[in-house]
Amino acid sequence: KKYVYFFSEGNKEMKSLLGGKGANLAEMNKIGLPVPPGFTITTKACNRYYECDREIDKEIKEQIFNNLKILERETGKVFGDSENPLLVSVRSGAVISMPGMMDTVLNLGLNDITVKGLSKKTNNERFAYDSYRRFIQMFGDVVLGIPKYKFDSVLEKVKMEKRVENDTELTIDDLREMIKKYKDLIKKEARIDFPDNPEEQLMMAVKAVFDSWNNSRAIVYRKINDIPHHLGTAVNVQSMVFGNMGENSGTGVAFTRHPSTGKKEIFGEFLLNAQGEDVVAGIRTPKPISELKNIMPKVYDEFVKITEILENHYKDMQDIEFTIEEGKLYILQTRNGKRTAKAAVNIAVDMANEGLIDKKTAVMRIDPQQIGQLLYPTFKSEELKKAKKIAEGLPASPGAATGKIYFNAEDAVKAADSGEKVILVRVETSPEDIEGMVKAEAILTARGGMTSHAAVVARGMGKCCVAGCGEIRIEEHNKLFRAGDKVYREGDFISIDGNTGKVYEGIIETKDADLIGNFGVLMEWADEFRRLRVRTNADTPRDSEIAVKFGAEGIGLCRTEHMFFKENRILAVREMIISKTVEERKKALDKLLPFQKEDFIGIFRAMGCRPVTIRLLDPPLHEFLPNKDEDIKILAKEIGVEFNALKDKIEELKEFNPMLGHRGCRLGITYPEIYEMQVKAIILAAIEVKEKFGIEIKPEIMIPLVGIEREIEIIKQLINQTAENIMSEKGMKIAYKVGTMIEVPRAALIADKIAKHAEFFSFGTNDLTQMTFGFSRDDSGKFINEYREKEIFEKDPFARLDQVGVGKLVEMAINLGRQTRKDIKLGICGEHGGEPQSIDFFHRIGLDYVSCSPYRVPIARLAAAQAAI
Ligand code: ADP
Ligand code: MG
Ligand code: MG
Repeated sequence: KKYVYFFSEGNKEMKSLLGGKGANLAEMNKIGLPVPPGFTITTKACNRYYECDREIDKEIKEQIFNNLKILERETGKVFGDSENPLLVSVRSGAVISMPGMMDTVLNLGLNDITVKGLSKKTNNERFAYDSYRRFIQMFGDVVLGIPKYKFDSVLEKVKMEKRVENDTELTIDDLREMIKKYKDLIKKEARIDFPDNPEEQLMMAVKAVFDSWNNSRAIVYRKINDIPHHLGTAVNVQSMVFGNMGENSGTGVAFTRHPSTGKKEIFGEFLLNAQGEDVVAGIRTPKPISELKNIMPKVYDEFVKITEILENHYKDMQDIEFTIEEGKLYILQTRNGKRTAKAAVNIAVDMANEGLIDKKTAVMRIDPQQIGQLLYPTFKSEELKKAKKIAEGLPASPGAATGKIYFNAEDAVKAADSGEKVILVRVETSPEDIEGMVKAEAILTARGGMTSHAAVVARGMGKCCVAGCGEIRIEEHNKLFRAGDKVYREGDFISIDGNTGKVYEGIIETKDADLIGNFGVLMEWADEFRRLRVRTNADTPRDSEIAVKFGAEGIGLCRTEHMFFKENRILAVREMIISKTVEERKKALDKLLPFQKEDFIGIFRAMGCRPVTIRLLDPPLHEFLPNKDEDIKILAKEIGVEFNALKDKIEELKEFNPMLGHRGCRLGITYPEIYEMQVKAIILAAIEVKEKFGIEIKPEIMIPLVGIEREIEIIKQLINQTAENIMSEKGMKIAYKVGTMIEVPRAALIADKIAKHAEFFSFGTNDLTQMTFGFSRDDSGKFINEYREKEIFEKDPFARLDQVGVGKLVEMAINLGRQTRKDIKLGICGEHGGEPQSIDFFHRIGLDYVSCSPYRVPIARLAAAQAAI
């Protein structure tokens, strides 16, 4: 069996066998680029190593040394030779590149004898000893596991004693002294003599690469990133080229386009007289690549040409590592470069316009999750330049906001309700702060990390947040914070940037994200390919407008309960709930009707002629009532009832399990007047918008939580009756539809019967997931992490649809529904409607649309296109 491939035997398609680095080294060799020769020990050899209880078996060893012979022939050097020694690098190379795995060992093959040969042959003694000390350090660190800082502190000490700043200023004698100290360190730490024999060095290094596949950092990384453990890593053994031979040598890294803006220009850094990772190690400050043009114009020109060749060949932005040895350029690695969302979009669209890739490829290049970053407001750049930064914390949730500071939720809510823009500043947040967070433009905390309460909640709300900003010292009781020597008090303006974590004094103007430029172009291309329509979940005109700007084609879910919470109506809602008679209830509902109507008018106008699905009241009623005695007392006074009577009523409404309680269409069955009022408001609003603005509205009225055929039958009749009455009274027809959520498993099972009455289904996958699994979203937090650790769940089923179980119910309901009503409209409005992998599933099973929060609309458009390509 073949376990080792010389570079000339491979190509870029062989990644799974040769690893990413090896396959690309082979490919670059194939297309004639200057790559130092070498060979790759395959991932199969790695797997074999583990099968043999961490032993490299004879066959593999033989193949390694056979290839080493070929390498000697190609280079004209001999491994371990005292006159003309071959030195190699040993480089790990997994199929998917993984930080945390073994680093590279350079200059392998050196010992007290070969170093003299190298010195004589190159006529550069300093270089030879510099390479030797580097080798011992890397071998000690990477292969023997001695912490790097121990070597560094030896180096620092020598540098101090010799009073030099840079390692390049050390003399040959200094280097000799260091080599001795390094060897002593190895003896002390690893309790072995530094191995002199190059063959032994090589086998130890190869083994170390194989072992690093299963070190704990690598295992954790694979878990987080869903990389299978059985892949194994390849090992590249490559003849050395030297960037540390003097001032006409050097090493560097460069991207073919700018990795943060995507601009078409070479972007990178290099260091003269340096080797390997000196550039990233931060020992010396590297120079921008453009300066190479002045220092070595010929090399620079050649490098530019090679970047063009590589980009054209791989048809993607490349991240390239190179070394210059005495004026000769070598390429040591290329791969598709990592980039920001902005760069990704610009590069994909530019490349398609240049004809390098087609539109489909451009659309496939963008990670839908990543473009979320591009959708939030930002500060105007001219304004930002003038701004004064006062502190910096963690960029916990993207966006940019300006507002007056308030130090507790209550004050924040009050200020926001009186029309002010508010930034909530807390040492850290807790669930009690939720209302304040909802009302605030942004949140700033002094304590807590990227997964603190503030950060998680803010991201969920799509709200800007800077967390863990320890530079500000908050005195919550005094309602002030200090930054530097300045004091900022309640009501002062600050501005915070959730993309950078920076906090500024005063007002900075923001601008909304637009789907303009290349981003707009890309979204248009995505629309050409997708079949799934994309709607939004929105219940205010403002959200509706944002969603339309982001390309929403309608509202898939308008929740009516949020409208009930508003200051000026909650009282009427509460009166309605505690009414003793139908008459009383109707009276309270009459007060709500005009509010609801206005809400719908606002939304209809924002959506124009796009379809709007409105869900009738869903949550259990006690959610609208106060809990605490003091609040109950206030309410009792406001509506003129006895405190005790009110308290009893509230007690009575409490449920053991509200999620499975008196909610959804069960409310409509028991209190038909509530749904009647809502339907009236919908139809009246549609009539008014048609009359006043000439917009033809086709509302889709959606009944929640249906599980029994009779439920929908009864409520549909109520809806039709109510609508007919109003329409004949007003003398105008509105083409409304009636449909239902499919969110109770029983509804999915009898979808054929339900479809007799429903003109559309919308899958409420949040409830459907809860009820199918039999655990609630609010309580699953207690065990879901452990479920993931024990690999019972790969992913939280509330975040990504469980295709096997819940998905099966959805599929079944689709088929049953279509059996009864061929043209039934099918959508999904759960949280999953904005999650790319779930969207792919919804595309495959043939839904008509997905509906998601406004900020996820572009993500869904892109994911839907990728599902269709
Ligand atoms: P990583 O995967 O961490 O980037 P690499 O295997 O690419 O590790 O090695 C890191 C650096 O070591 C390279 O960028 C290059 O500068 C240097 N290097 C690796 N192999 C050689 C070689 N054969 N000759 C000279 N330098 C090398
Ligand atoms: Mg590295
Ligand atoms: Mg590299």
